[in-house]
Amino acid sequence: MRLHGEACWWCGAALGDLHAAGTVTTPLQEGGFRQWFIVACDAHRDRRAT
Ligand SMILES: [Zn+2]
Repeated sequence: MRLHGEACWWCGAALGDLHAAGTVTTPLQEGGFRQWFIVACDAHRDRRAT
């Protein structure tokens, strides 16, 4: 299963090396939360989701 998250979370780059950058949690309209695994490109690999 491929989720959104196959491109850099910050700039959207989908080419080149992508690095695991943790997870983000977003609220759902119907209530509750969904956790996403995100990735970062080389330029943003030092960032972390907060
Ligand atoms: Zn990036």
